[in-house]
Amino acid sequence: MVNYRYLGNSGLKISEITYGNWLTHGSQVENDAATACVRAALDAGISTFDTADVYANTKAEQVLGDALKGERRESLEIFTKVYWPTGPGGPNDTGLSRKHIMESINGSLTRLGTDYVDLYQAHRFDTETPLEETMQAFADIVRQGKALYIGVSEWTADQIRAGHALSKELGFQLISSQPQYSMLWRVIEDEVVPTSAELGISQIVWSPVAQGVLTGKYAPGAELPAGSRATDEKGGANMIKRFLDDDVLRRVQELKPVADELDLSLAQLAVAWVLQNKNVAAALIGASRPEQVAENVKASGVVIPDELLTKIDTILGD
Ligand code: NDP
Repeated sequence: MVNYRYLGNSGLKISEITYGNWLTHGSQVENDAATACVRAALDAGISTFDTADVYANTKAEQVLGDALKGERRESLEIFTKVYWPTGPGGPNDTGLSRKHIMESINGSLTRLGTDYVDLYQAHRFDTETPLEETMQAFADIVRQGKALYIGVSEWTADQIRAGHALSKELGFQLISSQPQYSMLWRVIEDEVVPTSAELGISQIVWSPVAQGVLTGKYAPGAELPAGSRATDEKGGANMIKRFLDDDVLRRVQELKPVADELDLSLAQLAVAWVLQNKNVAAALIGASRPEQVAENVKASGVVIPDELLTKIDTILGD
């Protein structure tokens, strides 16, 4: 089963492997397969689910809400996000204005079929709306009980610090940051992680297996595997291409003996690797098939010894 970690300085425990539905539900994956993945997650002990209103232009929230119908709400942590437009693109249909936040939360709750989300996240930083206005809207949403906690996604260390200070003034606390983090994408280690650790904020990290690349299934010079994200013309193929470089793929293959030493698959090694960082509360995994969920959750509780962490750094050139 999956271990739990506290999210930031809060009392909220989340499953350290969390399931997200970007690019899959409502898009690459049929609804039956989406439900099967959610079922596999629940069966494996995952209780924390992440989505966003913009995923598949709101369909992902709907599919997740339908898949979770009938589950005991108290036993789930449901996260969503606001920022990007989901409608025809009116002047206020984007960003973190009070108007867009207040309208978006209501749409998300309806689609998810719940009275509240556990975590409501600013999907990006809005350079055009005063931060005070955004944080006041979040404070009001918490007071209304529509969200229990507030987080951000892909904010810089300075933006996190400013948002955190305002949240404290307004009587709530920003508790999480959701950045990209994997063996192939370590940007947050320099500033976001130290700042967050100082402020009592955790990371919920996305694409821990680099969208499939760290599973080793993309071999250098080989055909793309059928049915994989790299062949998904609805959007996935475009998102993954930054990692499909022969030198990167060769290094990933060289990680195999490290995974073997721990009796792990490459995917499990990749998920376990992000969880070695103490500021990470959860590895936010995606899946197009239930077997991937069942495989990847086995990374929970794995300890990677220091000498193997060093070996990984050497192989990847970090
Ligand atoms: P991952 O790095 O976990 O990639 C998931 C994909 O990799 C799967 O859909 C599958 O794709 C492939 N895969 C996973 N496990 C295996 C396995 N064991 N064997 C073979 N293939 C495997 O994460 P995602 O990129 O999906 O992101 C996860 C979540 O993070 C999202 O759902 C979302 O909640 C969040 N996110 C947040 C963002 C933000 O801006 N805040 C941005 C992006 C994501 P396939 O089978 O199709 O090849």
